[in-house]
Amino acid sequence: MNNSFTPRNRGGRGRFTQNRRPFRGQRSGGGGRNRSQSRTISHDKFVNLNPSVHEDTVYTPMHTFADFGFHSHIMDNLTKKGYVNPTRVQDESIPHILAGKDVIGLSNTGSGKTAAFVLPIIQKIKTQQTRDTVLIITPTRELAQQIQVEFKEFTDRMQLYSTLCVGGLNIYNQVKELRRGPQVVIGTPGRIKDLVNRGALRLENTTTLVLDEADQMLDMGFLPDINHIISMLPRDRQSLCFSATITPGIKRLLDTMLTDPVMISVRTSETGEHIAQDIIHARTKEAKLQELTKMLSRDNFEKVLVFGEMKHSVQKLAEELTRLGFPSEAIHGNKSQPQRQRALDSFKRGRVNILIATGVAARGLDIPNVSHVINFDQPNTHEEYVHRIGRTGRAGKPGQAYTFV
Ligand code: AMP
Repeated sequence: MNNSFTPRNRGGRGRFTQNRRPFRGQRSGGGGRNRSQSRTISHDKFVNLNPSVHEDTVYTPMHTFADFGFHSHIMDNLTKKGYVNPTRVQDESIPHILAGKDVIGLSNTGSGKTAAFVLPIIQKIKTQQTRDTVLIITPTRELAQQIQVEFKEFTDRMQLYSTLCVGGLNIYNQVKELRRGPQVVIGTPGRIKDLVNRGALRLENTTTLVLDEADQMLDMGFLPDINHIISMLPRDRQSLCFSATITPGIKRLLDTMLTDPVMISVRTSETGEHIAQDIIHARTKEAKLQELTKMLSRDNFEKVLVFGEMKHSVQKLAEELTRLGFPSEAIHGNKSQPQRQRALDSFKRGRVNILIATGVAARGLDIPNVSHVINFDQPNTHEEYVHRIGRTGRAGKPGQAYTFV
């Protein structure tokens, strides 16, 4: 795939020719017709015509995976996954986590942070003499599922077990699995609390806690549930917290849950600097749809994630595109968890190449090789924008993002 992205390149290759003016990144008032889109984010923020090289492609790690002294099965499983060198967040945090320190990781998905905590946790439970357990809390069901998939891949042939405790899936199956005593529980705050209250999940031996995407959890109003869960954990524990930002709310939470933490900051991929970005002017919904289908017809739009604002409009857009000959799936909060998972799998495995999602549903998802992110509807905050576009340009790959204004 063509990685470069400059206005010259676009024009020269004849791409977007019918559309050249709108793609110039000008900030005219033409897009201001639609009331729902008159947001506070300056259009400048949606334009980056000269993306920097992705940091992961130039980062020289201080350690090799062998330096960490991982169990031989972990090393075999790393090889199977094709991981050669640690990413920066792994390089910097794994030694501290192995040393038993509390860690704050300022990084989001895309930086390799899942393995940064999963690998040392596996090492810890494999070498411990006790029956201590690990609790990993995430804001969304999909993120929890994704972490469990990585956990399973990294523990292949190691006889370590995990249970997924998320809403939308049958709770009785989770209760049954918990009875078998998994070493690791991965879940969302509401369901974890529910299982604790039923007495199905016991936390007195949970000596390792991971809070993933803590800022998102607070945004979603999970703080009371998280505080409740933390109050049930042993005081003497190792806590790891990953967040894209440290807001005052996060700071308060960190102050109560961590002891003498090490702070690791891996911020580059959060800024989206390595992602080529541009805006598209369209005055009406019909014009937007027309522009969108033009783009989707182009060869290099190989795997496209489109963001919409509302659950029902996301569903409608997926149906409309499918009807127009662009098979699409949708994920949003009105779908059941199995439906969301099916849609996501379909996109991940390439059965469809277009996924339409609300911002919340797609938060933190790691979908390999997303070539383009398109904001059909603008995000409400710049932070949300950065999260959305961060679904492309992952693991050192190039990425492009377009926003309708
Ligand atoms: P994450 O930030 O954990 O969602 O990871 C982003 C992507 O990078 C995932 O597809 C990982 O499988 C991949 N990844 C993580 N660490 C490495 C590594 N050391 N080498 C190669 N790929 C990696």
